[in-house]
Amino acid sequence: MQFQMPVKTFFGENVIWTHRQYFSHFGSRALLVTGKNSAKKSGALEDVLKVLEEQTISYVHFDEIEENPSVATVLKATQLGREAQVDFVIGIGGGSPLDASKAIAMCLLNEDLNEENIFSQPPREALPVIAVPTTSGTGSEVTQYAVLTDHIDQTKKNLGQTIFPKVAYLDPRYTYSLNPEISLHTAVDAFTHLAEGFLNSNASEVSDALAIRGFKVFGACLKPLEASDYRKEVREDLMLASMLAGMVIAQTGTSLPHGMGYGLTYHYGLPHGLANGILFSAYLEQFKDQSKVNEMVKALGLSELSELTAYLRKWNQTETVPSEEVLGEFAAQMAQNQGKLKNHPEKVTEEELLKLYLKSFELDHH
Ligand code: NAP
Ligand code: FE
Repeated sequence: MQFQMPVKTFFGENVIWTHRQYFSHFGSRALLVTGKNSAKKSGALEDVLKVLEEQTISYVHFDEIEENPSVATVLKATQLGREAQVDFVIGIGGGSPLDASKAIAMCLLNEDLNEENIFSQPPREALPVIAVPTTSGTGSEVTQYAVLTDHIDQTKKNLGQTIFPKVAYLDPRYTYSLNPEISLHTAVDAFTHLAEGFLNSNASEVSDALAIRGFKVFGACLKPLEASDYRKEVREDLMLASMLAGMVIAQTGTSLPHGMGYGLTYHYGLPHGLANGILFSAYLEQFKDQSKVNEMVKALGLSELSELTAYLRKWNQTETVPSEEVLGEFAAQMAQNQGKLKNHPEKVTEEELLKLYLKSFELDHH
């Protein structure tokens, strides 16, 4: 058994201000890493700036992180941070800015990294990262992963490093400004982390305890999500579920749906949570041994898997239907993805992977 979750984590309203002493532990010059709008819109940027001012920490701000951030963007932000000789990185936003912050923190300490070599490095050091999530989805604030878009291999890839943030500040108020669509996709992402981590070869007593608690919390959100009811209590539960889910996949990794969904995001632009969600019902149904799936269903407060898949099928719809030929290529690629396959507890063939894709896009009727 192994367990590692080294992130000092604060959860609740106003935690940045209440626990602000940690900012100055990491130095006097910071690089702020955000997307275009959400850091401002969520109120998180204002809260961070107030602390930086009080603690006379100077900063430069890179606000060009795009969704599914590319290596080129990471290198551009690194340039800004290097010129300003920053001591640490503060990421504010959804998984995209948070993952980018980790990669930037690593590049700041390793000048030799570039688009060709960044994904294939032995363990590297990184500057300290403070993470402030504004979505309840990726759990990136409590994981070691950084997923970037690799335009050379035309897919999304984990960096393959262990870069946990030093401190995570989770304030559910920052998610109030999310629209219903992004709220739903990111909630589904969080759920898929709980489930892929629970139904995983690396699952342990500790990760399962976190997952079961996560299913309970997420189960209470099912009806509100269905009704687009995002009152305060629901926002709190969604952020808590997302955090627990991050702690789970930090131990187990993700498995088939995440591996199979990256191609859908790269080639068809489907949001990450939607890509996972489209594949998820068929994924749950294909388990030969359904005992742990049933445990999950119970923990969610449901009695049948079909109640869960009814929600998932309804929430995860798209007009985009890749051709069977393209799905065949994706299945072939996935059949080579040893990293994700080894996390799946059952043997699965390329043919079964293709079936999973076809069923997910309702192309399996012949
Ligand atoms: P995201 O790509 O970070 O953001 C999606 C959109 O939501 C952006 O337009 C963003 O605006 C907006 N947004 C974010 N917070 C908002 C708020 N509070 N109010 C209004 N709009 C807001 O979405 P995400 O789903 O959180 O992250 C997805 C990325 O994380 C993917 O690259 C995925 O592969 C990765 N991921 C990482 C892990 C991990 O363990 N590290 C796990 C799963 C997924 P702005 O552009 O203005 O910011
Ligand atoms: Fe994810």
